[in-house]
Amino acid sequence: MTYKFDHHRIESALQKAKDTRHVLIGSNLLGDVDDFFVRCFGEQKAVIIADENTFAAAGKRVFDALSAHQRIDVEPFIFPSEPILYADYQNVLKLESFLKLQDAVPIAVGSGTINDLTKLASYRCHRPYLIVATAASMDGYTAYGAAITKDSFKQTIPCSAPYAVLVDLDVVSQAPHRLTASGYGDVLGKITAGADWIIADTLGIDPIIPHAWLLVQDTLRETIGRPGLLKTGDTQAIGRLIEGLILCGLSMQAIQASRPASGSEHQFSHLWEMHETEHGVVSHGFKVGVGSIASAALYEQVLKQDLENLDVSRICAAWPPKSQVEMNVRQSFSNPKIIEEAVNHSLAKYIDPMQLALRLEKIKESWPTLKERLKSQLLSASEIYDLLKEAGCPAHPTEIGHSLPDLKASYALARKIRSRYTIFDFAAETGCFDDCVDQLFAPGGFWERAPHK
Ligand SMILES: [Zn+2]
Repeated sequence: MTYKFDHHRIESALQKAKDTRHVLIGSNLLGDVDDFFVRCFGEQKAVIIADENTFAAAGKRVFDALSAHQRIDVEPFIFPSEPILYADYQNVLKLESFLKLQDAVPIAVGSGTINDLTKLASYRCHRPYLIVATAASMDGYTAYGAAITKDSFKQTIPCSAPYAVLVDLDVVSQAPHRLTASGYGDVLGKITAGADWIIADTLGIDPIIPHAWLLVQDTLRETIGRPGLLKTGDTQAIGRLIEGLILCGLSMQAIQASRPASGSEHQFSHLWEMHETEHGVVSHGFKVGVGSIASAALYEQVLKQDLENLDVSRICAAWPPKSQVEMNVRQSFSNPKIIEEAVNHSLAKYIDPMQLALRLEKIKESWPTLKERLKSQLLSASEIYDLLKEAGCPAHPTEIGHSLPDLKASYALARKIRSRYTIFDFAAETGCFDDCVDQLFAPGGFWERAPHK
């Protein structure tokens, strides 16, 4: 069966997007890339940016098709593929100085790394660009901001999203399976990200914005439903996955916030990324996948709590003052850069005991409804575990280099590195965080039972 690209869904998403104006997904598109280019950029010249692998996978065909229309005056900018290319700031500067010499629209041919490098370099040259995707590997194609390593620190540097995106399904379905699997992990994370947003919405901290919510959640179950097909290179399954990833990016672009696509599961991933001393050891989506299991497992414990009968004054009396929170954060990390970032984020979401009392009253009152909303949003940790396995993703933390004690510590640390309100904060504020996490690792708990392979 061939994949049917739902123009309507993407078109309505584009109406709310800030930077991206054109998205085309379909089969056998590279031969007609010039038509699409002209529709997006008029009669301008183009310049190709790729690495050796993505040039071979699609870049050469894009180059030939555009050259046939006298669209190209310069040789493509091709990064070597050995050693592996990373989204480093130095590479952004190299590309930027090259682009400044050309009066041409950048066409990035690649996935995460090439897109991030071109996104930032084009932005710095004040030039809209086109991305020709080569793998369904993450939701960053249409996101604003570029994930770049600068001063040995991976960070999201603000910049515009691409003006246009072209996805040829014959290309992305030929990508190495680990890339598609990584995209699957990233999209599966929207289950817990959605649950976190539901909590923040209920408590009036971060109200759900319906159109942004729907872009991510409306077709999510369908997108994650049959992961086994991804391994076979099934064009329809991969088409649905990349459409889902593109919609996530457009959702973030529409509200200029990552809330629709990123919650507690991403905080595990960000935490582990901060401590990676080597580049690209584990792909983003694989960390998000394991983080999603970890968050879903915490949700299961929290959902067992009797929050309608919280003892508000007892919890407020034990609530730490701001100074103690700061001290605790400072003692939790060793890298000075991470410490400063974590202090800022933790203090930004700190509330005092009086504010906590109000929030807890709200939780008591809304728990019966909130609990049901969360249950219908979530999947169990075991279900997420099985879906990841079926997709060919790592599921146990040891498969991505984290022991169980490491993972256990990560729960408390992940809470500290982002100001975003998630299940971590909800569990902490209701006084059940430590117990819930302990139970997951105690005999009979989810992580104690989870199969290692
Ligand atoms: Zn992600």
